[in-house]
Formats: sequence, C-alpha cells, structure tokens
Amino acid sequence: MLTRIIKEADVKRLKRLVDESRKIVVTTHMSPDGDAVGSSLAMAAVMTTLGKDVKVILPDRALSNLMFLPGAKEMIDAKQYPDFAAGLIADADLIFCLDYNELKRVGALADAIDASSAEKVLIDHHLNPGDFADPVFSHPDQSSTCALLFRVFCRLELFNLIDRYAAECLLAGMMTDTGNFSYNANDPDAYIIVAELIRKGVDKNMLYERLFNTHSENCLRLNAYAMSKKMEVFADGGAALICLDRSELNRFHYAKGDTEGLVNKPLAIPGIVYSAFMREEDNYVKISMRSKGDFPVNKLCRDHFGGGGHLNAAGGEFDGTLDEAARLFRSLIDENKKKYIDK
Ligand code: 5GP
Ligand code: MN
Repeated sequence: MLTRIIKEADVKRLKRLVDESRKIVVTTHMSPDGDAVGSSLAMAAVMTTLGKDVKVILPDRALSNLMFLPGAKEMIDAKQYPDFAAGLIADADLIFCLDYNELKRVGALADAIDASSAEKVLIDHHLNPGDFADPVFSHPDQSSTCALLFRVFCRLELFNLIDRYAAECLLAGMMTDTGNFSYNANDPDAYIIVAELIRKGVDKNMLYERLFNTHSENCLRLNAYAMSKKMEVFADGGAALICLDRSELNRFHYAKGDTEGLVNKPLAIPGIVYSAFMREEDNYVKISMRSKGDFPVNKLCRDHFGGGGHLNAAGGEFDGTLDEAARLFRSLIDENKKKYIDK
C-alpha cells in the first residue's frame, strides 16, 4: 500500500477539471528527457482512454532514444510547428504542465500557455513551483514526475486505465530520473509502483536495453575521448570538470543525447563531490552539474551559470564562451570548498 501524499482537495478539483474538459494539451520542459516524455505520454494515454481529445506538445525535440515509447511519434514539436502548437494551446480547455516548475522551462511555449484561458494543472517534482497553475501537485520528495503521476492516477481512481503502454512510459521516466534506480532510489514506495507497472506487462529488461544500453559507435568514442582526454580533476577542491567544444563535438558527429550521463562519471572518484560538464552550443554554453551529499549544485548553477535545479542535479545556460565558463568554474573551486565542503 502506498503512503498517501496528495491532498484530497486537490484530487477533487482535478477530478472535476478532467470531467469538464474535452480538449487537453499536455506540455513538458525543454530538452525533454525520459521523465518528461514518459509522464506526458502516460497522461495522454490515460486521458485518451477516458475519451478526451489529447495532444502532447514539446517545446523542442525529445532525445531520439525515447522515440520508441508508445505514442512518441504523435508528439508535436513546437519548434517545428509553432503556429499549430500555439493554436492547440489557445483552444485547449485543460493544460497539464508536467515535470517543470516554472513557465520559463518551456521556452517559447510560455507565452501561449500563460495567455490560454485553459485551466492549468502542474504535476512536478522540482523545488519552488510557480503559481501559474491550480491545482499544483508539487512533490520534490518524489524521484520522478512519473512516480508522482502514478499516484495521481491512483487517487483519481484511474489505476485500471493504465494499460501496458502507459505503464511502460511511467517506468521509463522512473528509470531515467534515478539512473535505473541508482540515485534518489531509497523510497520503498517507488518499488511498490515498479511492481505494479511490471504487473501491467512492462518488460523492464527491454526498457533498460533501450534507455541505457543502446549507443552509436560515435557516441561511445566521444564519451571515451571526453573521459580520457578532457576530464580535469581538482582533487583538493573535490571537483571535476569536462568541457567539449564545437570542433570536438563535430569530430564525433555529436547528436543530442550523446553526452547524457557523462557528467556523473567523475563522481565515481573517491573525494570528488561535484562534477560539471560544459558543452559549447551556438551562442551559449550548456552546463550540467551533479553532486554527492549536501553539496548544492543548484546554488552554484543559479548564482553563476544562469540556471538552477535540484541539490544534486542542476544545470544552466551560460551566456559567454566555453573558456569563460570553464575559467569561472575553476576560479570558484576554493570558495566552494570553504562554503560547502569544509563548512
Ligand atoms: P541536466 O544536467 O540533465 O540537463 O539537468 C539536470 C537538472 O538541472 C534538470 O532536471 C533541471 O532541474 C536542472 N536544469 C538543467 N538545465 C537548466 C537550466 O537551464 N535552467 C534551470 N533553472 N535548471 C536547469
Ligand atoms: Mn523529472
């Protein structure tokens, strides 16, 4: 039996909103990951079974290794079809906002969502939810939006409508947001949910193969190169940094998603408590950070690298060159040690 975490009043309100809605739009954050896509597709599947007219709209393309998920090919990429996406959002009577806490996480879709007269419902596990939706199901203690969404379905008495395909999407999100249950994975309830999803017919072995163990040759070589030639280790400061510039990415025919997980690797070294990965984009630098224990990479990203996130997993978009971002990171190592490690 799952412990109860969702407020009854919010369940009641959501039930009414779903009952009264006909056209539903499901949205999620930019650079949609497994949890974003998994929760969106599961929501779409269950709402479609309820007889609703449902569209999933992504701010930009999802990682290609997620496109095998049931229903993924019907998702609408708003970058490719901006007017179509804006029209659907304006026309909707209910908009689900999944796996993001603030409208700025949906990029160019933010204005359309803000302007739509549709009711908005937020279901998310990031800290500090904005106040653009009602009800807000914000549970940062949940390791994924997919785990939280399973709970929401149960509370709405829709458990029986979760078919094998929706279950596959939910488990995909739970697996990707926990590194296949290797971090944020100490919640016993999560395993009750996994058991229920597997009982629905999900092949977890297949999901692992598709989500974690399928890479192109270029991707494997790029990661090997990054580890052997580009990893800087600052043992005294407990830090590590990997930077990849455009020419290096091009040499290995970089495709979106190829460096997923790379930032975690240096944390395997005893004594390294935080790690940064920086990738040169066209006019900014994409920053990813991970940490162990109570080192707050979200603060580091927020204070210096134009972003934010969770305590142990954060990111940002740095407005400057790759060299500047790397120099800034190195220059903060001593201060970080005093502030967050030796404190
Ligand atoms: P990733 O390193 O996988 O891109 O992102 C890890 C986490 O950091 C995300 O789940 C998100 O919470 C946060 N994050 C990543 N990029 C950004 C960003 O540009 N801005 C903010 N505010 N958070 C980000
Ligand atoms: Mn998530």
